[in-house]
Order: sequence, then C-alpha cells, then structure tokens
Amino acid sequence: MRILLMGPPGAGKGTQAEILGRRLGVPHVSTGDLFRDHVGRRTPLGREAARFLDAGELVPDRVTTDMVRHRLDQPDAARGFLLDGFPRTVRQAHALSAILSARGEALDAVVEFTAPEEVLVRRLLARGRPDDTEDVIRHRQRVHHRETVPVLGHYAGLVRTVEAVGTVEDITARTLRALGLPEGVSTR
Ligand code: AMP
Repeated sequence: MRILLMGPPGAGKGTQAEILGRRLGVPHVSTGDLFRDHVGRRTPLGREAARFLDAGELVPDRVTTDMVRHRLDQPDAARGFLLDGFPRTVRQAHALSAILSARGEALDAVVEFTAPEEVLVRRLLARGRPDDTEDVIRHRQRVHHRETVPVLGHYAGLVRTVEAVGTVEDITARTLRALGLPEGVSTR
C-alpha cells in the first residue's frame, strides 16, 4: 500500500503512521523524522535544515524532495510506504508524482486528519519537542494552511477525511475503516 498521511501539525500523523505501518507491513517515512535525524547527526543536510525546523518554516522543496527520493529507493519501501509530512507544498506533490510514475507506481489513498486548532496546539504543547513553543506551533499552523491545504486539491478523489479527535485507538479504527481495511487484527 502506498498511502499519504496529511493534516495539520498535531493531528497525530506520526502516531497513526507507526501503528498503520506495523499493521500493513510497510515503512513509516516521516520527512520530519528524517530531518531530525540529519540534524542530530550534524550532516550537511542537517546543518542546512536546522534553521528551518527551529523557525517552523518549510525546508526548501528541492532539498526535501531529494531526501524523499533517496529514502523511497531503499529496499524496504519497494512494497509500499506510509508517507507522513510529505508532500507539504504543491511543488512537492508534483515531484512525488514524478518519482512514483518513474517507478511505475501510484498512490492508493490519501488520509486527511482534521482537528480543531485549539486541540492541535494543546497536544503539541504537551509533546514538548524543541520546535513546540507556542509561537512556532502557531506559525506551523499558518504555514500548513497556506502551503499544505492546497495540496489536497492535487489528490481529489483519493482523499479520505478522518476526524483526529479522541483516543489513539479510536482514530486508528476510524482510519482503518476509511481505508476499507479490517479492524480486528492486532497492531502490536
Ligand atoms: P514534522 O515532524 O512533520 O512536524 O516536521 C517538522 C519540521 O520539519 C517542519 O516544521 C519543517 O521545518 C520540516 N519538514 C518536515 N516535512 C517537510 C516537508 N515535506 N517540506 C519541508 N519541510 C518539512
């Protein structure tokens, strides 16, 4: 399965991607995690990306797209993947289409998680990542509305909207239902 998980920061994409990835036997590919790994290892890419992460700005499309292309070339992504946090701009969506068509592949679904902004901000403040200060959180929400909401238009017909409010288990169950997958199998 090749699935995109979309939605504002704090919607729980990463949490759901971990669970669904185990459930479906495909890797969870998070561009945020990939960037944080580079930042932690102080690679050239990490040194370039750090200031964007700290400010809640998007890392330039070219850098991001090259990183995703490289990650999807790893053998574990051959049978599918759950992309979390990419594409975040219309240009990235076009780049992903080109990457997939070169591989003779297509997406199966796009899951859009929704939640009220106050719920998102509360969750992120509780999470406490270094880029989770209230100012940066609010800025990431604005960037999401400006740059990422328009990406959904690129996937008309593939998008399934899931309300990302309630317990992790409830949201997983809703997501599986939205994808037309059985809920009964353990995810652990
Ligand atoms: P996330 O873990 O998805 O919340 O992403 C954390 C940060 O990584 C974002 O605020 C951006 O600075 C950067 N980032 C993650 N994914 C992307 C992307 N697709 N395009 C540009 N920047 C990204």
